Amino acid sequence: MGLLSEGTALSWAETKKYADHVRRHGIKQFLVQYHKLESRTKDVLYWGDEVEYQLLKFDHVNKKVYLALRGQEVLKNLQEKTKVKNDSAKDVPTSWHPEYAQYMVEGTPGRPYGGSIAHFNIVEANMRLRRQEIQAELNDDEVPLSLTAFPLLGVREFTWPTAKTDPVDGVSRSLFFPDDAINQGHPRFKTLTRNIRTRRKEKVAINIPIFQDVHTKRPFKEDLAALGDDGEAARAAQPDHIYMDCMGFGMGNCCLQVTFQACNIEEARYLYDQLAGMCPIMLALSASSPIYRGYLSDIDTRWPVIAQSVDDRTREERGLEPLKEDRFRINKSRYDSIDSYISPLGRCYNDIDLTLDQELCDELMAGGVDDLLARHVAHLFIRDPVSLFSEKINQDDENDTDHFENIQSTNWQTMRFKPPPPGSNIGWRVEFRPMEAQLTDFENAAFTVFIVLLTRVILSYKLNLIIPISKVDENLKTAFKRNAVKNDQFYFRKDVLTASTPPECAEQCKGCGGDDYAKGEYTLMTVNEIFHGKDDFPGLLALINLYMDSIEIDVDTRCTILQYLKLISMRASGELETSASWMRNFVTSHPDYKQDSVVSGGIAYDLLSRVAQISQGAVQDPKLLFKHTTKSSDSIPAAVSSAEAFLKQKTPSGSKSAAAA
Ligand code: ADP
Ligand code: MG
Ligand code: MG
Ligand code: MG
Ligand code: MG
Ligand code: MG
Repeated sequence: MGLLSEGTALSWAETKKYADHVRRHGIKQFLVQYHKLESRTKDVLYWGDEVEYQLLKFDHVNKKVYLALRGQEVLKNLQEKTKVKNDSAKDVPTSWHPEYAQYMVEGTPGRPYGGSIAHFNIVEANMRLRRQEIQAELNDDEVPLSLTAFPLLGVREFTWPTAKTDPVDGVSRSLFFPDDAINQGHPRFKTLTRNIRTRRKEKVAINIPIFQDVHTKRPFKEDLAALGDDGEAARAAQPDHIYMDCMGFGMGNCCLQVTFQACNIEEARYLYDQLAGMCPIMLALSASSPIYRGYLSDIDTRWPVIAQSVDDRTREERGLEPLKEDRFRINKSRYDSIDSYISPLGRCYNDIDLTLDQELCDELMAGGVDDLLARHVAHLFIRDPVSLFSEKINQDDENDTDHFENIQSTNWQTMRFKPPPPGSNIGWRVEFRPMEAQLTDFENAAFTVFIVLLTRVILSYKLNLIIPISKVDENLKTAFKRNAVKNDQFYFRKDVLTASTPPECAEQCKGCGGDDYAKGEYTLMTVNEIFHGKDDFPGLLALINLYMDSIEIDVDTRCTILQYLKLISMRASGELETSASWMRNFVTSHPDYKQDSVVSGGIAYDLLSRVAQISQGAVQDPKLLFKHTTKSSDSIPAAVSSAEAFLKQKTPSGSKSAAAA
């Protein structure tokens, strides 16, 4: 989860004293790098995925399932093994990173993909290898799952070994989530937890509507005093909602992210804007988290949970009290959808009133950054640093970027615009962050490959998917909903093929009418229509197929891709269930389920046992997946080299069409 700096963590009171210092130097650091790197170009379109895993422990005798607090130890071993390989060979297949919870790890490919269309053959095998590498570190009764949300998270004694909550002195003061479940390997995670709570001046409060079943308690209200509540939780908990009270409920969830390197900064800005509108759509399609703290909820995705879980805004900033101590009213959590487009094409669709640090914005513009990018950065910089290490306070702004990254990496938004890291030869990148983790490698590969192909289509055909950014926000709210894929409609652009030239616009345009300007350009579509077409719009899948017909592509790779597109197509049409509705149906049709929204320990055990079997390929459920063939890790080199040979034979230069991949 972004930057990890080592050292002595400061309290919020100490960090606050340095907030302006961090911001001022962060902007200086951005400016230095911007000028060094604004003209950097790359001809290879690298990309890579990130998959997060939870470590589960099964007690098959008593039919119970726990989260195993072994992430730190497992990560250490995984990192050591990849290091050994690194010394002996230059190709390290996997790379391992810490995550928020002590029961999590994050895995990425050892190197980014790109340069060859055949790399689409490796994605799934590499994901499978990662799963095997984690499994090799675990006991027989333990399993790694790419599961978005653990259904019993925060339910009494959900960890192995058992850990105690400390509502009085703990860093989170949670009634449900023990501090021992937070990553113990690096102080960043506990520091963030404590500082977000102290900055807010109260515990974070997550309220998620409960699924109202026939026998759900009405009103649904829990006895929080019995768990040690001093009254704060009772005041924060809304009736008929599942109440959660700490960062771990959101940051302790898993997701699937994909990062792309663009040719240059302009292309990165264009991609950032184009993909922004896809975030709600892909969130809805990848929905896989209907259960929270042992209850069926009325939502299908983690997003509103994670947004509320790190909401460090004070009452003044949230608009509940007049501004006195704080600087701004802020309309969103640090974890939320983006508020502005940054490419010329997006300019006139910026119809959200952007809260920004005007002084820093002026400094950026005086330093030669254009208004769109300056406003984007100045908007990120309305936030305070929430984790700072004493050793890192004074930096060399010519060469370091820690202060910039401090603010940047704690703006957890749907999209992230990533400048090249100093001292690297990496290009300008954008990160696509909304998707939920899928249960199997096949599905995670399918979602990854789909979004990579979509970027190729967007760039090749110069597509324009932009709608007013306020409409993207509305779409995100739609995407949370139970069964959004089948029941709801999303704003989508009618004509994506003829990109309108950027309209003449005042330098400081804040969306000249936004909605008025764009009226008539977009309409409501179902997810099915977005993927399969409506009226003159051919649908995203047809555009991808058109693109594939236009490039050199070997039979193996094409077959692999077609299986992934088939999954996306069948999820979009509703022929296959989303993971969320599959889990929901598993619970509601379980013989022990009492139609009261309660997901008991026994039901969760059965559900996760099935998930474990599915993720290992031991069982296939035709409601979730069609029968597909997958490549084993043994066949990776063969598949790639045969594809590369095919391409060389087709195109003497070889690398030309490869670059398009
Ligand atoms: P973060 O957690 O900050 O988002 P990670 O380093 O965990 O970043 O993962 C980012 C992803 O980007 C990985 O899949 C990695 O392979 C990929 N990646 C690395 N270098 C590049 C690059 N030059 N272009 C595109 N993607 C890259
Ligand atoms: Mg992560
Ligand atoms: Mg990462
Ligand atoms: Mg991350
Ligand atoms: Mg990282
Ligand atoms: Mg990431």
